[in-house]
Amino acid sequence: MDVQYEAGMHAGLKCCFDSGRTRSAEWRITQLQGLEAFLKRRESAIARAIHADFRKSSAESWLTETSYLLSEIRHVRRHLRRWMKPRRVPVPLHYQPGRAMVTREPLGVVLIIGAWNYPLQLCLAPLIGAIAGGNCAVVKPSELAPETSRLLATELASYVDASAIMVVEGGQDETRELLRYRFDHIFFTGSRQKGGEVMHAAAEHLTPVTLELGGKCPCLVTESADLKRAARRIVWAKFLNAGQTCISPDYLLVHESVEKPLLELMRSALDRFYGSDPMESPDYARVVDDRQFDRLRGYLREGDIVAGGAVDPAQRYIAPTIIRGVTPHSRLMKEEMFGPVLPVLTVSSLAQATEIVRNGGEPLAIYLFSRDSADLRFLRERTLSGGICCNDLLFHASIMGLPFGGRGMSGTGAYHGQAGFETFTASRSVLVRSGGLPDPDLRYPPYGEGKMRLLRRIVNLFS
Ligand code: NAD
Repeated sequence: MDVQYEAGMHAGLKCCFDSGRTRSAEWRITQLQGLEAFLKRRESAIARAIHADFRKSSAESWLTETSYLLSEIRHVRRHLRRWMKPRRVPVPLHYQPGRAMVTREPLGVVLIIGAWNYPLQLCLAPLIGAIAGGNCAVVKPSELAPETSRLLATELASYVDASAIMVVEGGQDETRELLRYRFDHIFFTGSRQKGGEVMHAAAEHLTPVTLELGGKCPCLVTESADLKRAARRIVWAKFLNAGQTCISPDYLLVHESVEKPLLELMRSALDRFYGSDPMESPDYARVVDDRQFDRLRGYLREGDIVAGGAVDPAQRYIAPTIIRGVTPHSRLMKEEMFGPVLPVLTVSSLAQATEIVRNGGEPLAIYLFSRDSADLRFLRERTLSGGICCNDLLFHASIMGLPFGGRGMSGTGAYHGQAGFETFTASRSVLVRSGGLPDPDLRYPPYGEGKMRLLRRIVNLFS
């Protein structure tokens, strides 16, 4: 890493936080405005950097990175002062006179570790929460998106308060080094394995963590689904970012009676979106590195390929691929796909599909295409996941009022909008009692029988 994180920097950030400067609403709003200016003025540079990292199109970069971040900033700016207000709590009569409230207070110096697949959004969306909470922050982008990481490291400081917000570049070794410092919160986005390491390192300092992890997100298509809509939306969500999205549909569970027409419609959607040769499409991204390419390529030997299957190692290109004839025990179902390969399993009932979902643990999201509202209730009551989205995919992550996060194996904690503000603040209980009124003896020893009788009566009366 170019900028080596050192004890002096850590102490500087602590000192900045302790000065109280980051607490005011004005400071927070100014930083959010700075982020907004960075996103607007450097939109093309950002798109170029992400394109250089894994050939993501500028349209997709705008849709899933800059425009998302700009709307979150607008949302937070609009509501921040209200979220910051202390919440009054009623004080029972026998504790009167007094005022009680819950305040939301900044955490201190927080560490944000981003994943590469949405290299800007996964660093800056948590940063929006951290700023809204009034914290100092160190942001560590992923080394697997080096151009975006470099852009953040070299440019962000000109738009925000650089003595409170710092970008540190690096990979595994540098991140491990960072984790030796005592942060007040660690917000991690990435794999389960590294998430476990983060939790372990955080435990050394008893530092709380938010873990935004991955997993296999199932997509169920019932016999009542609008198949045309399902096909277009599944193909769009699956092959966006070349399948390298944490909430991408990982595998399909399709009612056996609709598999054939659904696959047919999906094939024509693929053709419409990316043309007869997706390698030529400017809208189709590449796999991030050779390790992932080799892993994904290995899957192309499983099941029956009904669309795609072509590869070009030189470009790390894997065509949008759909594989049918997959069983729950297949290799394709063992680990998170995180690439442009979609396994399709057929089921004879929603109950059977639900059982397969339950056996896969707690995914980040579950998708359902059905026109029967009882199906959604059935699925909701029998499964666990961070989110659930019916008749669409991905968009539940863009609704600012919906906290975004996982559950169990897919993570812990949430962010986006107010949930981000809450993640990056701690609630503090405050009681203010009179300093000058008479102070009766009732609560103090000695507690004779008469005093106890009176105390019991008062407490029973008012609580
Ligand atoms: P990764 O776990 O390999 O890396 C994530 C970050 O951790 C990077 O910044 C990396 O430098 C850093 N890191 C590397 N070694 C580390 C260590 N020993 N300890 C701590 N941090 C370390 O993940 P990735 O390949 O960048 O991302 C893919 C994974 O992230 C997938 O599993 C995906 O589902 C998940 N993901 C989750 C979300 C979400 O919001 N839940 C979003 C995007 C990606």
